[in-house]
Amino acid sequence: MGSYTGYRCVRCGTDYPPGLMFTGCPRCRTDGHPANLEVVIDLDRARASFDPGRLASRPTSMWRYHELLPVDPDAAVTMGEGMTPLVPLPRLGRELGLPNLHAKVEGGNPSWSFKDRLASSAVSVARAMGSRVITGSSSGNAGAATAAYSARAGLPCVMFTTQQFPAAMRVGMAVYGTLLVAMPTIADRWTMVQAGVERLGWFPATIFMVPLVGSNPHGIEGYKTIAFELVEQLGRVPDHVVFPVGAGDAFAGAWKGFREYHELGVTDRLPTMLAAEVFGPLQAALEAGAEDVGKVPWGPTPAISVGLDTSAYQALAVLRASGGAAGSASDDAILAIQQRLAATEGIYAEASSVLSLAALAGMVERGVLDPDATIVAVLTSSGLKDPDTTLAQLPAIPLGEPDLDAVLGLLRDTYGAELPGPVPA
Ligand SMILES: [Zn+2]
Repeated sequence: MGSYTGYRCVRCGTDYPPGLMFTGCPRCRTDGHPANLEVVIDLDRARASFDPGRLASRPTSMWRYHELLPVDPDAAVTMGEGMTPLVPLPRLGRELGLPNLHAKVEGGNPSWSFKDRLASSAVSVARAMGSRVITGSSSGNAGAATAAYSARAGLPCVMFTTQQFPAAMRVGMAVYGTLLVAMPTIADRWTMVQAGVERLGWFPATIFMVPLVGSNPHGIEGYKTIAFELVEQLGRVPDHVVFPVGAGDAFAGAWKGFREYHELGVTDRLPTMLAAEVFGPLQAALEAGAEDVGKVPWGPTPAISVGLDTSAYQALAVLRASGGAAGSASDDAILAIQQRLAATEGIYAEASSVLSLAALAGMVERGVLDPDATIVAVLTSSGLKDPDTTLAQLPAIPLGEPDLDAVLGLLRDTYGAELPGPVPA
């Protein structure tokens, strides 16, 4: 099983042996402070064959870093996930006063979101451990990714979902032959995953424990590759990395990746991790100096993938360890920057994804980050996952007639567009 040697609690540091452990640290749960476990990688074993200077000849997927992942590459369930583009955002960056702003565009993954990293790692481990059924709870990207990788592994996938969510998300789960079941409430979904895990030995790929601890530690390992790729693509450690954060799986995973690279001596510094959240549970916990993340008031949001009323200890721990900060943004700001990103840089990302950019503006105002720093915003998913939210913001398409002068008039009247004439001969 690769370089994986067991688990360690992200809160109390207790070590546990390898096995099927998906409900967080037993000791911290008993103490009333539920916290996730993380996978322990034998870095000495990894060091023996992993040479970051010789990555160019390896597959262009996240498995190019296989020594630092929980299974060997011949056991990987893979279809080229990872190695997504790192794109400078010069025009939007200028508008935001952030001249060194970059986007990690995760919509380029096989099921069009960053969750493919989690699913590829988790389902690979499930198959290697001999698990026979994959399960999860999702109405979105995690469900699609888990469904896709279960299909690729040839394993049945039971996915608990809700009754109402975007059609694109529904198609994105159902098309893979997933065994979808709608539950009356979000909490019911989690209860059913837990029942499947405990009674039937199903392998969970998403969050399900209440209070939240985060997803399966083997899935979170996949997110480390975001950190490895950023170092490889940028040629250095970015100063700040901002993620949209719900339970903080990718946030914790990327941070673990930066830590492991640092420990291996590949890099000599660590980034500051910034959390973009909708309702602010992490910011509230930071301001209160709280030991755990509590609940905050909650409501509808266009950022459906991260619209939770709480987060998990694993995310709070990353903020504290990296000297980071949390910030949020209004619905209007999220929807506005989604269109600005598309119109100025050509990138259409899900509303939940662009929360990372929208929250940066507020963090600059609060003075929690250096505007000249090298900042990477992780755009977690394609905008096509939820086009109806965007469509409601866009102007109606005017009906023209087949006459070019009339069309030019229509462009002027509808869009205020004054187009340049032909290039002089
Ligand atoms: Zn613990």
